Amino acid sequence: MGLTITVLGCSGTWASADSGCSGYLVSDGTTKIWIDCGPGSLSALQQHCSLEELDALVVSHSHPDHCMELPVLRNALKYGLHIERLPLYAPRDVLRLLELLVGSQGIAPSFTPRMIGDRSRVEIGTLALSFSRTDHPVETLAVRVEPVGGGPVLAYSADTGPGWVPSRLGDDIDLAFIEATLLAAEVQEAEAVHLTARQAGAAAKEAGVRRLVITHVPPTGDPEAHRLEAEEAFGAPVELARPHTTYEVDATP
Ligand SMILES: [Zn+2]
Ligand SMILES: [Zn+2]
Repeated sequence: MGLTITVLGCSGTWASADSGCSGYLVSDGTTKIWIDCGPGSLSALQQHCSLEELDALVVSHSHPDHCMELPVLRNALKYGLHIERLPLYAPRDVLRLLELLVGSQGIAPSFTPRMIGDRSRVEIGTLALSFSRTDHPVETLAVRVEPVGGGPVLAYSADTGPGWVPSRLGDDIDLAFIEATLLAAEVQEAEAVHLTARQAGAAAKEAGVRRLVITHVPPTGDPEAHRLEAEEAFGAPVELARPHTTYEVDATP
């Protein structure tokens, strides 16, 4: 089985009627990694993977739409399933926030916390992950995922403004999930803490991304308008992240 990413939630900033907030399941058939656990993603995850099967959870940043299932997941691990030492890779803010929510004795033994930052590289099972700090008000980490030893390359921007570009994760990205929270007409593009769809498409093109999926469109947005704006800048077809949809990451031929 090749590398895949399944959308557990892709609604930006708050949940919509048909999607929870950011959450993704990345798998190569052997290793299963949950990336971001925004509200609603714990329920969605269990339609694709049991909590016992998870090898790790990675959280990009401390904004609630990316991490607020953490204390609820801890309930499941501690009181229901008696799972211990789930590796939790996250920036310092996220680990502090979780400690605040569950108490300093509360993280262990459910989780094994592993602090990550800009340029961290880790291997989780058969997958290699590397991180890059984005342009966002709190420490936020975009991530590159690929099989240990090489293969198709997946990139996920997490949340970012235009001061970060996907090429920081390399110039050989096969599939990128890039946030496209805004439309160019709505904002002063240089000042936003998120990307417009135009910026997402242009940055992906600049990085030589082969296939682009945009995500984090808020419930008040018109997803098709975001897709069209990104597509024009990318110069090739752009797809929308859709809940419960699995995207295959194919290696460059
Ligand atoms: Zn967000
Ligand atoms: Zn954010």
